[in-house]
Amino acid sequence: MVKSAETRERLPEWLRRPIGNASDLSTVQQIIKHHQTHTICEEGRCPNRGECYAQKTATFC
Ligand code: SF4
Repeated sequence: MVKSAETRERLPEWLRRPIGNASDLSTVQQIIKHHQTHTICEEGRCPNRGECYAQKTATFC
């Protein structure tokens, strides 16, 4: 069952990660897709992708 926005519990501030710059995220994701590389970031659906991709970093498998 999906909770509505009003009933969903919010994460504590210390657990929230910055989303990062959308164009930087897109740039890194396009590079990964274009070169058909495998990264632990994408394979593991890492929650830190926003922060790492904004710094133009990724970890290859
Ligand atoms: S480089 Fe960043 S996004 Fe990739 S796995 Fe490590 S912490 Fe996650």
